[in-house]
This record gives sequence, C-alpha cells and structure tokens, in this order.
Amino acid sequence: MDTLQITDLYAGTKEGKEILRGVSLTIKKGEIHAIMGPNGGGKSTLAQVLMGHPDYVVTKGNVSLNNVDITHMTPDQRAHHGLFLGFQYPVEITGVNFGNFLRMAVNEKREKKKISPIAFRNEVEPIAKKLGFSEDIVKRFLNQGFSGGEKKKAEILQLAMLRPEFAILDEPDSGLDVDALRYIGKAIGNMDYSFGLLLITHYQRILHYIKPQFVHIVVGGKIVKSGDSKLAKETEEKGYESYL
Ligand code: ADP
Ligand code: MG
Repeated sequence: MDTLQITDLYAGTKEGKEILRGVSLTIKKGEIHAIMGPNGGGKSTLAQVLMGHPDYVVTKGNVSLNNVDITHMTPDQRAHHGLFLGFQYPVEITGVNFGNFLRMAVNEKREKKKISPIAFRNEVEPIAKKLGFSEDIVKRFLNQGFSGGEKKKAEILQLAMLRPEFAILDEPDSGLDVDALRYIGKAIGNMDYSFGLLLITHYQRILHYIKPQFVHIVVGGKIVKSGDSKLAKETEEKGYESYL
C-alpha cells in the first residue's frame, strides 16, 4: 500500500517511436526520488506516461498506485487516485481564471466537503504568499502572461492545494532565477503533509532545498544508475557523458 510502482515500463508515441525502454521504480509515500539525465533521455515522457497523456502508448509493463493498476486510466481518473503532475512547460489558458480553476479542482477532490469561495481564498492566500506570489495572481487567467517563474510557482500552488498522495514534478526549477528557485524549493521541501515525490531535474541546485533519498539517472529511456543523494552531486561534476 501507499506506493507508486512502475514495473518494466515500455512506452512510445502513437506513431510507433519507442522512448521508454523498461523503467522500473517504486516510490513509497514520504519518499523523494530525483530523476536526472541528459536532454532527450525520456524524463518528460516518463512523467507524461505516468499521468496518462494520450499521445503516448504503453507497449509493455504497468503502473500501479496503492495496488490499483492505473496503466490505462485517463488523466483525471489518475488524479482522483491521488496522482499529480507539474508540467515542465505549463500552457497558457486564456479565459480560465486561475482562482476559479484551482477552486474547482480542489472541490472535485473534496467531493463531500465543497469549499466556499471565501474559505478557499483564506486557504490559498497564505500559500501563494509563501511562494512569493503577488496577491492578485489568482484573479488572472491561468498562466496567461505569467513569467517563467510564475508558471512554475502556479504548478506548486496547485500541488499545495490539491495535496496529492504522489506528485511528479517535471523540472520545477528550469528557467528560474535564484529567488524563484528558493521560493519553489522551500515550498516543495516544506509541504505540510506526507506524500511521495518524483522530482525530475536537470541540475542539482534545487536539491539544496529538497533532499532526495534516491537519485536515478535516466538515459535512452532507461534507468542506467540509481543511488543516494551523493549520486546527484557526482553526476553534476562528471556530466552525463559517461552514461551515454
Ligand atoms: P527529456 O525530458 O529527458 O529531455 P523527453 O522525454 O522530452 O526527454 O524526450 C525523449 C525523446 O523522445 C526525445 O528524443 C524526444 O524528441 C522524443 N519525443 C518525446 N515526445 C515525443 C512525441 N510526442 N513525438 C515524437 N517524439 C517525441
Ligand atoms: Mg523534459
């Protein structure tokens, strides 16, 4: 129970391009696993396949969440089962108010106890502040005109409000200045409940704030090496070339 288990996962595009070639990984609730690797290694594909993106097809293996096979579920079914994905490239959605979107998503999860607009505002404001957002952020359209840092913070605000059991964050640190990195790193590292985290990152700088117990290097659609947090530092010093 309380695990996200990936077993011998093979997946590719609908056009038949194979990208993931046998990924196995078990994440228990409360654990932080970092995935590092060179560009094009398959990290984002793994994240998208775990969340059920329709552009990808699983050809072998499976994914289970708390012993329920979610391999063929839709993204919103997976979200209902407690999975969350923070995107590497969040999209701008004109016409959708960020605050309304977030409140609807939260209410969707809390079927029985729906939250009122005022109660919602009281919950969201302190978290938004902790992330270094200006207060009017939830009044704006979702990601519309947000800076790179604001888009990444918006993903973390969703995570903090939705409180999933397992979260996958795809490069929450890419494109951030040092202040945004600190806000985001601290917000993720100090979340006030226990969850399992799969943290995809290209650089180890975010690991100053978030301490993974396990680090996995993904190259060519496979985990080529696993270790503890020392592996992140070692890898950054050596570069990824030795794994290619
Ligand atoms: P990473 O996140 O590690 O940089 P990606 O998972 O984004 O790597 O990409 C892995 C490989 O799969 C790349 O060669 C990329 O071009 C390819 N790829 C990913 N998604 C698609 C897609 N939808 N169609 C075609 N090729 C894709
Ligand atoms: Mg990527």
